[in-house]
Amino acid sequence: MKTIGVIGGMSWESSAEYYRLLNRHAKARLGGHHNARSLMVTVDFAQVEALQRAGDWDALGVQMAEAAQQLERGGADIVLLATNTMHRVRAAIEATISIPFLHIADPTGQALRASGFTRAGLLGTRYTMEQDFYVGRLREAHGIEAIVPNEHDRADVHRIIYDELCHGNVDAQSRGVYQRVIEDLAARGAQAVILGCTEITLLIGQKDSTLPVFDTTALHAQAAVDWAIGSQTDA
Ligand code: GLU
Repeated sequence: MKTIGVIGGMSWESSAEYYRLLNRHAKARLGGHHNARSLMVTVDFAQVEALQRAGDWDALGVQMAEAAQQLERGGADIVLLATNTMHRVRAAIEATISIPFLHIADPTGQALRASGFTRAGLLGTRYTMEQDFYVGRLREAHGIEAIVPNEHDRADVHRIIYDELCHGNVDAQSRGVYQRVIEDLAARGAQAVILGCTEITLLIGQKDSTLPVFDTTALHAQAAVDWAIGSQTDA
């Protein structure tokens, strides 16, 4: 089995979820006491969040590239960036490592297409919903049209991520907000909804949504384990 390197801490609430999902999927594939071989570099989210707000994506690119290099030096065979938002700087990461980088939008785009969907609602941070790095990847690499919430709803979705979910607060009222936003996306033609932020899975599952849910955290973790295991039946 190959070793999965994870750039985590954005936030650690979702990185903990990654750790659980990586190991659970490895066990599902291989059985017994198998788990995923992995290592994680945890960055300080306070710094990252401040640089995001300042729009200093260059500094963030340097930080993410350093974390990816640390993983490569530590023996990782592949790098996962455990946040959708920070894929804004994926080019800076890819330029500095010689191991593969698994883009978080790719397993989701592939799963949507495999289910026959081409129009999907996208929930995530403002950066993910409003800038082209993510919506463009879905469109260009997968032929998926992303439908984003209106301005007012984007503000709510973003606020709940940073003020609640990144602190581990899962609130029933906020779940209701997300459910209403999903209804609105469905009314505007979305065939499915992408949980395009790695913390949303803490708040929303398939049972909470009238649209089929595509959870980027789970799909990313699963794709990494499938890659790490390959065709082996015992590692
Ligand atoms: N985990 C989040 C994401 O998937 C947001 C936190 C961050 O800004 O990295 O986009």
